[in-house]
Amino acid sequence: MHLNKHFSEVAESYLFSDIAHKVAAYQAAHPEADVIRLGIGDVTLPLAKPVIAALHKAVDEMGDKATFRGYGPEQGYDFLRQAIQNYYAGRGIDLKLEEIFVSDGAKSDLGNLLDLFDVNNTVLVPDPVYPVYVDDNVMAGRTVKYMAATAENDFLPMPDENTDADIVYLCSPNNPTGAAYTTAQLAQWVQWAKAHNAVILYDAAYECFVTEPGRARSIYEVEGAKDVAVEVCSFSKIAGFTGTRCGYTIVPTNIVSDGMSLNKMWLRRQTTKFNGVPYIVQRGAEAVFTEEGMKEIQHNLDYYRNNAAVIAAALDEAGVWYCGGKNSPYVWMRCPAGMKSWDFFDWLLENAHVVGTPGSGFGPCGEGYFRLTAFGDAGKTKEAAERLKKALATLK
Ligand code: PLP
Repeated sequence: MHLNKHFSEVAESYLFSDIAHKVAAYQAAHPEADVIRLGIGDVTLPLAKPVIAALHKAVDEMGDKATFRGYGPEQGYDFLRQAIQNYYAGRGIDLKLEEIFVSDGAKSDLGNLLDLFDVNNTVLVPDPVYPVYVDDNVMAGRTVKYMAATAENDFLPMPDENTDADIVYLCSPNNPTGAAYTTAQLAQWVQWAKAHNAVILYDAAYECFVTEPGRARSIYEVEGAKDVAVEVCSFSKIAGFTGTRCGYTIVPTNIVSDGMSLNKMWLRRQTTKFNGVPYIVQRGAEAVFTEEGMKEIQHNLDYYRNNAAVIAAALDEAGVWYCGGKNSPYVWMRCPAGMKSWDFFDWLLENAHVVGTPGSGFGPCGEGYFRLTAFGDAGKTKEAAERLKKALATLK
């Protein structure tokens, strides 16, 4: 047999293990230091009570012969697909039920979708970027091109006359930069994709954080986007499902190329290679969209938003440039005094006992930047922001 040689072309992912090693070494040398972690993008608040109640109820159903469920529909139960359909309808977006596919999270779908595309397609991803887009494509042997996201373009790259690709990844609000496209900007991407027979894979995992009018929560806010865009979304960040695992992908029936329907291909792919998300988890996800579920979830999102505002206020006071934090749980700051990302990481750990994520770990354009997350405990975030501000003041 021969192995997939492209796995040897995937860059080793050292980012989070390097961070963990550095923090462990620092703690070993300074056991008294109270290190606060604003690094990893995982949530910290528990599942909402209506979700827990729905999960319990579903567990009981599974223990009763009359209500037990075995294999479910691969594309998800209608009760959850309808709830997702209503969630979009509430924002004026019309989705057909057959366009909605429930999954075990955005990460799996982002990789699995590539089964539908020829290996010779050229892929365009932003730099810096959520590393999964790149690795999925390199593993499959595809050529990846990068578009620079910089302070000059507000970390929101736009297509121009030289932009040439078959598959484009857009992530908005963005991980790691926190930047969020406006609907008008996405309209330009949709127009570009139509003109180039390209597809947009739109990662909306952080849509729930968008509050500013004019910033898009879904690419389908753009007229005609259903002709060219697949949208991948998740319950991870909206409802704390990072460990529970549930997401969904919208594959519009309009997307047709080479006489083939992307929606039909995805259905075929899923029914062949996927056996659905657990019934219990889907009932929990359904509860997210109930009135009580949404109320509690909004409360949790406000908690994280407030953390972001606390970090942003500290940077404002320190006179440090940043973006994100408004429509996103990520604050993307420029490292002070011209420091490189990893130098600032060491400096911040040493001087404030605060851990963040070096921007260079997300791509070359991230060099000189640093990501802080708002997903932590409110008290600790306040303390970290205070220490950050004090430490930054010493550089003046
Ligand atoms: N997309 C982005 C941009 C993310 O940052 C993450 C997780 O951090 C994911 C997708 C993965 O989401 P899920 O937990 O649904 O797999």
